[in-house]
Amino acid sequence: MNFSSLDLAPALQQAIDACGYKKMTPIQQKAIVIARRGRDVLASAQTGTGKTAAFAIPILQQMLDKPKDTVSGTPRAIILTPTRELAEQLASNIANYAQFTDISVTALYGGVKLGGQASKLKAGVDIVISTPGRLLEHMTLKNIELANVEFVVLDEADRMLDMGFISDVRQMLAQIRAVRQTLLFSATISPTVNELAHKLLKNHEEIRA
Ligand code: AMP
Repeated sequence: MNFSSLDLAPALQQAIDACGYKKMTPIQQKAIVIARRGRDVLASAQTGTGKTAAFAIPILQQMLDKPKDTVSGTPRAIILTPTRELAEQLASNIANYAQFTDISVTALYGGVKLGGQASKLKAGVDIVISTPGRLLEHMTLKNIELANVEFVVLDEADRMLDMGFISDVRQMLAQIRAVRQTLLFSATISPTVNELAHKLLKNHEEIRA
């Protein structure tokens, strides 16, 4: 199935064309249509399967569909991922998908000073991609306002569990309104990932690519 069959916003289709994508990957075929309707999703997908576009495109499309009902500048989407490298890679890919829109993207991760990241947050950003620990630091310092977040993605949830990030993830989710869309992506759906999904997702659809 080609992306053009999705009837996406022209700015998104243009970005997909610029990336050179024509056919959707299997995870994209399954996830984009469901997630675009606002459903929570539990998806098993490895890195390299096109999972970034599988969760980013439906979020970007919904952001374009719904005008901001938020105080300007506060994030509408939070994407948590286990490592700095993944945060940078996701931010670069998602910025590519959003390049013809006015949606802004930034990555937060540890190992660098907080100040530069805090300034970017203060200037206003729509999509924040972060490692869990660094997001919590910014939350504690009140550098970030989560009250208007509409979309949450937990990327590589199994690795975040293995790395002991679960309490950070839960503390973050406790600050986000209950009426939100949550997408949980994991390479493996272990019993612990399943348990997490049942606690965090509402009436979710399960996808295996
Ligand atoms: P990901 O699993 O999201 O890290 O994507 C892996 C690689 O596949 C990245 O280099 C993407 O740019 C590329 N990619 C994602 N979706 C498609 C697609 N539908 N067609 C061709 N390449 C893609």
